[in-house]
Amino acid sequence: MTEAKYLEDAYTTVFSAKVTRVEPYQEAVGIWLDQTYFYPEGGGQPSDKGLICAFEIENVQKQDGDIIHLTSKSNLEAAMACLNQTTECTIDFKRRLTMMQQHTGQHILSACAYNLFESKTVGLHVGDDYVTVDLDQKLSDEALLTLENTANDVVFQNRPIRVHYPDDETLRAMPLRKTPKVTKDIRVIEIEGIDFSPCGGTHFARTSQVGLIKIKKVTPYKSGIRIEFGCGYYALGFMQHRNTIFNHMIQQFSATDDTLPSRVDQTLDALNNAQQHTAELEQELIGVKAQQIFDSAVVVGGVHLCVISDKNLTMKQLQAQAGALTSFASCVILASSEHEGQVQFVLSRSADLTQIDLKAVFGTVLKPLGVRGGGSIQAVQGAVSENVWSDTLISELTQEIIAKL
Ligand SMILES: [Zn+2]
Repeated sequence: MTEAKYLEDAYTTVFSAKVTRVEPYQEAVGIWLDQTYFYPEGGGQPSDKGLICAFEIENVQKQDGDIIHLTSKSNLEAAMACLNQTTECTIDFKRRLTMMQQHTGQHILSACAYNLFESKTVGLHVGDDYVTVDLDQKLSDEALLTLENTANDVVFQNRPIRVHYPDDETLRAMPLRKTPKVTKDIRVIEIEGIDFSPCGGTHFARTSQVGLIKIKKVTPYKSGIRIEFGCGYYALGFMQHRNTIFNHMIQQFSATDDTLPSRVDQTLDALNNAQQHTAELEQELIGVKAQQIFDSAVVVGGVHLCVISDKNLTMKQLQAQAGALTSFASCVILASSEHEGQVQFVLSRSADLTQIDLKAVFGTVLKPLGVRGGGSIQAVQGAVSENVWSDTLISELTQEIIAKL
């Protein structure tokens, strides 16, 4: 059984301990100590990292009262040499401090949500650069601002944080925010004036070390909300990141902090207007082109055979160009575009040429060649390898159509 010293002292990060056991554990090597200040993963707080006997500890797990410090399996032989030795252990203090900021900060945010709105925390997660808490009810933007301000008030008031191991009677009298997960040796964390919560994590002695608590994003989650936030170093990290982006945008939009939102709105409006204008001009151009193509088309038996070949056109543009031509009477259109070895095509006709069934033409001429596509009696479309698409094939298609007239 390892003595869990972190429960009574969250600030010691350099200590000596005796190595009592070393053996392979899961995909790593486990190192057991007689006592440890390393915090094992649990209760929504990630484990500490650091060094034991110069071996890098990547993770710490708790199992049946034992605390197992995990190092790379390549360290097995060297770690065995430390067995029964007293060795120096060092916890990565910056990481511990950062994790304590998130963990203690989460206590504060959850307590404030409960005290202000009776909103209960039903889930939490500490990530590499953010924390989430899930609340069981939705909160308005105004309520969220009140929550953030109140949580930061608690930080700046530098309130004491105390650890209690109450007897049953004292425990019953405590206004616990949540039910303990264990039934004996219950450890209660008090944040003066705002919270009593059962918890086995590491906490600061006073609230100010949590640093700024900043809500980053709020999304709907089940019947409540998920609040993504950061405390201390996490808050500093994402505020710096966002500030870099914000300053870049200010420069790009020639704006100030205050005028940026309206500049973005104005630019988007202008872009939408320009896109609409471009679409109108494109439509006009299609009409003009359609007239030119119709006028210069070969006429067979009173039918205009309009052939369009333009590698710059997309399928949508082919369809639009062919569509504009079908508004003329007695017109058959074969529009194609070649791109990266593939030819896309549209074959269509005017509504008055009812004797021409283009679906049948597709079936007779194109389908046997393995051409993909299909459509109706009035228009078919598809794609084919450029090796198959040839002047001979176009001629064959034209002949098949003319034969229907
Ligand atoms: Zn805690």
